[in-house]
Amino acid sequence: MVSRVIPVDPFDLVIFGGTGDLARRKILPALFRRFCDGQMPREARIIGAARTRQSAGDWAAWVGEALEEIVPERLRTAEHVAEFLDRLDYLAVDAKGDDGWSDLCDTMRADAVQAFYFSVAPSLFGDLAERLHQFGIARSDARIVVEKPFGNDLASAKALNRTLSEYFDETQIYRIDHYLGKETVQNLMAVRFGNVLFEPLWNTQYVDHVQITVAEEVGVGGRGAYYDQSGAMRDMVQNHLMQLLCLTAMEPPSKFDPDAVRDEKLKVIRALDPVEAEDIVRGQYKGSKDAPSYVEDAENPESRTESFIAIKLHIANWRWNGTPFYLRTGKRLRARKSEIVIHFKEPPHSIFDEDAGSRTNVLSIRLQPDEGIDLRVTIKEPGPGGMRLIDVPLDMSFAEALGAEGTDVPDAYERLIMDVIRGNQTLFMRGDEVEAAWAWTDPIIEAWTRRGDRPTQYEPGSSGPEEALMLLHRDGRRWREIGG
Ligand code: NAD
Repeated sequence: MVSRVIPVDPFDLVIFGGTGDLARRKILPALFRRFCDGQMPREARIIGAARTRQSAGDWAAWVGEALEEIVPERLRTAEHVAEFLDRLDYLAVDAKGDDGWSDLCDTMRADAVQAFYFSVAPSLFGDLAERLHQFGIARSDARIVVEKPFGNDLASAKALNRTLSEYFDETQIYRIDHYLGKETVQNLMAVRFGNVLFEPLWNTQYVDHVQITVAEEVGVGGRGAYYDQSGAMRDMVQNHLMQLLCLTAMEPPSKFDPDAVRDEKLKVIRALDPVEAEDIVRGQYKGSKDAPSYVEDAENPESRTESFIAIKLHIANWRWNGTPFYLRTGKRLRARKSEIVIHFKEPPHSIFDEDAGSRTNVLSIRLQPDEGIDLRVTIKEPGPGGMRLIDVPLDMSFAEALGAEGTDVPDAYERLIMDVIRGNQTLFMRGDEVEAAWAWTDPIIEAWTRRGDRPTQYEPGSSGPEEALMLLHRDGRRWREIGG
């Protein structure tokens, strides 16, 4: 399958925090792959900016090493790497002082797209925004990209929005949630709104319930102390799972346009009912002989922060009244798996004998591993054994469906960074969306903090606490297996 790559306009992309972990593991490899694909014009420039004093050559050498380590060998040639490194420049810039800013001002070109990637701690966002303005660097059409976490609660998210909006218009701010850049997540919209098949059934009359799972095998490891300040609700549910929920539940936007899509997502968040205590299960993983427990990783024996959460949600609108959405995410679980699963209802009347059994349709959208979409449909069991119903998958695994190239599904960052250059905000969160998500999250966290709830301990390598299974069992439902 030949993909159609349209080069973007010439750009100057400044990566503040260009020597950091995110730049090394995600941003630079993503840019390199877009370069190899021919999407980056000859005039594109990537300018690293961080506190470290070093030459452009030193930074390029470091980037070269990062590419060797992160980009699989079959996806890079020495020529491509050398040509890509040629496009790099570096400036030592201090976000909190005046060092380096005049040089940066001199480096920027008047006729290229301007993008500034804030790949630094959120506490520096305000300083960067202010200096870009103060030194007359950012034009009125410049874009800034900000990473998660976008606030820690509603008040801090509002403060951050206020600070950024002092210097930048909302149309210039690109808040990244990399889940939105995943190929399958965009495909969720293509499946819903590009087919006539699903949308008529996409409501409480036909959908029994929805499950959204983001399971990780790893623990919090070296970032335990940092993670302990947030927990699964803040780190995963408020942003990633909320975005998946919105795309699954939203009304069809009038067009695939940034504000049309984001308006519809916002309506979903605003329609969320408050969550009762009995509809939330929080957990912490235990230790094993090979690995520490959550509280050991967090270096906090008294920690009440959750490494796992399961929630039952209701969306109070006509489309979804009566259809529960079950969300769960956690660390140190049986497998790494992320999926959205739509469980349809049973047919209203069965024409078959009881012996035939009954099956329901299940549509699952797999985000990882092995991105793809699978629809289970009911058929007759083959053979002479009478009418017995079984369900079989109509599977569209991207790796298979898209041929050899499909095995290299682009990383979310590739798509998102190119969207920044193109000036397309559809897959980025708007300020009011982020605030609405915190406005829903805050009272839930406040309630369990007030009650002094302690998370339940769960076995590492399991599906989470027993109570999470009960959350569905008591409704006569069950979670999909996390792994084999
Ligand atoms: P990091 O600590 O590895 O890197 C921080 C970078 O900021 C370094 O390049 C450092 O030189 C620069 N910096 C620090 N103080 C500075 C100053 N005063 N002036 C100029 N530059 C300064 O951090 P990271 O892991 O790359 O994360 C960057 C941001 O991205 C953070 O907000 C983080 O929460 C977010 N994030 C990171 C990841 C990840 O996988 N690493 C994932 C999601 C979000």
